[in-house]
Amino acid sequence: MSKIKGLQCKECKKSYPTVALHVCEFCFGPLEVAYDYDYIRAHISKEKIVSGPKSLWRYKDLLPIVGEPTVGLSGGFTPLIHAKNLGRRLGLDELYIKNDTVNSPTLSFKDRVVAVALTRAKELGFDTVACASTGNLANSVSAHAAAAGLQCFVFIPYDLEAGKILGNLIYKPTVVAVNGTYDDVNRLCSEVAGEFPWAFVNINIRPYYAEGSKTLAYETAEQLGWETPDHVVVPIASGSLLTKISKGFHEFEQMGFIGKVTTRIHGAQAEGCSPVAAAFKEDRAFIRPVKPKTIAKSLAIGNPADGFYALKTTRESNGVIEHATDEEVVEGMMLLAQTEGIFAETAGGVTIAVLKKLAKQGVFAKNSRVVAYITGNGLKTQEAVVPHVGVPWQIQPKLTSFQEALKAAGGKSVNKE
Ligand SMILES: *Cc1c(COP(=O)(O)O)cnc(C)c1O
Repeated sequence: MSKIKGLQCKECKKSYPTVALHVCEFCFGPLEVAYDYDYIRAHISKEKIVSGPKSLWRYKDLLPIVGEPTVGLSGGFTPLIHAKNLGRRLGLDELYIKNDTVNSPTLSFKDRVVAVALTRAKELGFDTVACASTGNLANSVSAHAAAAGLQCFVFIPYDLEAGKILGNLIYKPTVVAVNGTYDDVNRLCSEVAGEFPWAFVNINIRPYYAEGSKTLAYETAEQLGWETPDHVVVPIASGSLLTKISKGFHEFEQMGFIGKVTTRIHGAQAEGCSPVAAAFKEDRAFIRPVKPKTIAKSLAIGNPADGFYALKTTRESNGVIEHATDEEVVEGMMLLAQTEGIFAETAGGVTIAVLKKLAKQGVFAKNSRVVAYITGNGLKTQEAVVPHVGVPWQIQPKLTSFQEALKAAGGKSVNKE
């Protein structure tokens, strides 16, 4: 008996063994991990979770590994902050920020999925790991591979932010900058994965990788006192995170940890790469791929692998998918920083901008409980805000020099102008 039954096609339900495989050989549908929930229910409890490690591994019983975790032991269990200042601005009494800008070790939610993917890759006997990345995934794979002593190749679009390129090189993986978009990188990597016996975390071992995102839902429910929020706002790149947040809540319901899930799941994209938002608005069931052009590079996937499922999940939960312009993204980053003291990357700006739009549209009741997922750190996307944040006061090392500058500013700090 074991908690994992195998892999299963999401479409035709055909079963596969738990190997490195992600596409159904018969209908080309995506494969997902199939669990024996009766077995898990008999082995899991709230008490066991609460007394577990303060990391994503407290939910190990619901994650697709067979043995003990070996990679990424510090990831997850990030703060859920009651955002009273931002909530006041938006007319929301119960707004929460799930703050994965401080996730460990590489400051984005990708440390969750990579911890699971690399633990599983080691279980499957791989000695080389790789990924196709919009930025954060490569950072996380590089760091975890260094610590785990695995050979590592990361493939990225050539035009990523300096912080994200450095955030690979420092760990000394092989960094391959591809002259193309993420979608070109991903297509190339599918071919490379066919040629080399490597664990591509978001290709051949994607079914395991994707499950790591569920921990964002588990943590949210636990941190809310074993309750679900009324609304969540989730950024969409491939669409995997959004679908797995929904799955996480529903699994907790199935385990009897929380009541019936009625959470409305809302999606956020950047206007310059909004194929899922466009399908939502035009009431289409299929995604029309686009060529990305946005400062939100971590979300710049023009042909999202799980876009169809993100759309379906959102609709089934009675949610909305909105997009935000690059200008609104920068405003969102500054608003979050200046109300809550959280410096998020551009993807966080997308989430806050869409949160603001939905609040304005009256989607939330004043007292409803809303959680916004802030998935990456602003120090990695400095280029986006540098032109907008002003410069320091320049003074001489003399008290009089400071006094003059203060007087010129009307005797106040700039945030009280
Ligand atoms: C990868 C990423 C996402 C979205 O991930 P998907 O699962 O591909 O939709 C969101 N935010 C940040 C910062 C990311 O790096």
